[in-house]
Amino acid sequence: MVSFPQRLLDGYRAFTTQRLPTEQSRYLELSERGQSPDVMVIGCCDSRVSPEVIFDVGPGELFVLRNIANLVPIYQPDANAHGVSAALEYAVTVLKVKHIVILGHAQCGGIRAFVDKAAPLSPGDFIGRWMSMFIKPGEVVEQRNHESFQDFVTRIEKAAVFRSLENLMTFPFVRSRVEAGDLQLHGAYFGVAEGSLFVLDTATKEFKSARSGE
Ligand SMILES: [Zn+2]
Repeated sequence: MVSFPQRLLDGYRAFTTQRLPTEQSRYLELSERGQSPDVMVIGCCDSRVSPEVIFDVGPGELFVLRNIANLVPIYQPDANAHGVSAALEYAVTVLKVKHIVILGHAQCGGIRAFVDKAAPLSPGDFIGRWMSMFIKPGEVVEQRNHESFQDFVTRIEKAAVFRSLENLMTFPFVRSRVEAGDLQLHGAYFGVAEGSLFVLDTATKEFKSARSGE
């Protein structure tokens, strides 16, 4: 017998008694006026890295896309269906978001799968194929330098953010809005254990702590 997860039913009841009363007018307004978020976040599916929780936002504030390892493909206007590109097109050309944030994170399973991969891709290896689209074998990013394995994995996790930022600019509707000054692209990295957020400084290409005083 199929049963809807009890944890979700309990959570929904808590939502209706605690959060909904304070946000009811906001939901009503959003349903009538439609959504108009200023920010799109492209994050990982990882259950520990929820953008709405990390950024403490309410309904209508973030347009969120999550996939394995927070990756954006290159612009490929072919006959295939592209889920990430469709979400991006909607966010940029319809909602006209002002910011896109690529949110990477520590202990990313997708990145780990990429780093650990030894066997060639099989037809059913969706994760392998997905990851191989972005960080291609032989690229310098894949080489482990004189660094610990942990540092290596962290570097690749951050490299995935850079790659997604690069790939965003291959979309003509992104590039034109960025060049017009109507859209800004950002990178960020979430440290799961500490709940720490690091924001990419585009000038120095380094991730800096977002906590005040650090
Ligand atoms: Zn991940």
